[in-house]
Amino acid sequence: MNLIDEIEKLKKEKRAVILAHNYQRAEVQDIADYVGDSIELSRKAMLEQDAEIIVFAAVDFMAESAAVLNPEKKVLLPSLGARCPMAQMLTVDEIKRLKVHYPDAPVVLYVNTLASSKAYCDICCTSANAVEVVNSLDADTIIFGPDRNLSEYVAEQTGKTLIPIPEWGFCPTHLLFQPEDVTVLKQKYPDAVVMVHPECSKEMRQTADFIGSTSKMCRYARETPAKTIIVGTEEGLLHRLQKENPEKQFTIAYSDAVCPNMKLLTLDRVYASLKEEKHVVKIPEQIAIKARGALERMFQVKS
Ligand code: SF4
Repeated sequence: MNLIDEIEKLKKEKRAVILAHNYQRAEVQDIADYVGDSIELSRKAMLEQDAEIIVFAAVDFMAESAAVLNPEKKVLLPSLGARCPMAQMLTVDEIKRLKVHYPDAPVVLYVNTLASSKAYCDICCTSANAVEVVNSLDADTIIFGPDRNLSEYVAEQTGKTLIPIPEWGFCPTHLLFQPEDVTVLKQKYPDAVVMVHPECSKEMRQTADFIGSTSKMCRYARETPAKTIIVGTEEGLLHRLQKENPEKQFTIAYSDAVCPNMKLLTLDRVYASLKEEKHVVKIPEQIAIKARGALERMFQVKS
């Protein structure tokens, strides 16, 4: 039996589902029951009533959110090394420190944070709903973290004052994109449109016809009449984009924009995770209750 058949067999035996982030390796996306962005996956996990095990093919903070939202299920992260560096940039101490300076400012945290940080925020957001979440708050000054670029983008869109926390949080993968690369590609494909993730720099965002999360990029790619699309996000998304739009051509703006943390998950590791039921993601209940509240408040915001 080959590895894919072995994984399928184990999935049935153990009543497991595999959820894979848009940035996963193509072969991991292809064996997943569902592929999406971080919050689409957490929601999906909540809807999988019959599942007893969720294999979360992604990085630490995403598996944590799934565990927080699905306390009755066993959530597995196939590689303990799959840790998002941006999520590690924000500490609870930093949040407490800024709250002293801005006692009336609500704290909005991007889902790319650890559960321990989420427990200290008022509400979470994703890159898909950050503008709506910030607009939903009855405050003009808001503490926002950890991504500085997303914070600047949301401030531009809402006109509110966003205090970044930490001062320079960033995604090392999205920071690799530079506008010069788009200029060169536009010469090669003059009719192409450009779509860019809000974690990219302002200069990169200024090259874009469309700025949005991976889920919004998928929708834009389906709806745009353009046949060639230059993509400013992690290269794993191109697999899904090409699968969903075989008649269109997708080109990544910078070919080495690979998140090494996402790519730690191989088919072998997914198989081992399912077989040995490792590594179980456990969040202490006192943290989980607060983090769940922040995530649930986000789900109540219409976007
Ligand atoms: S792409 Fe960036 S934000 Fe996403 S997991 Fe990798 S380092 Fe973290």
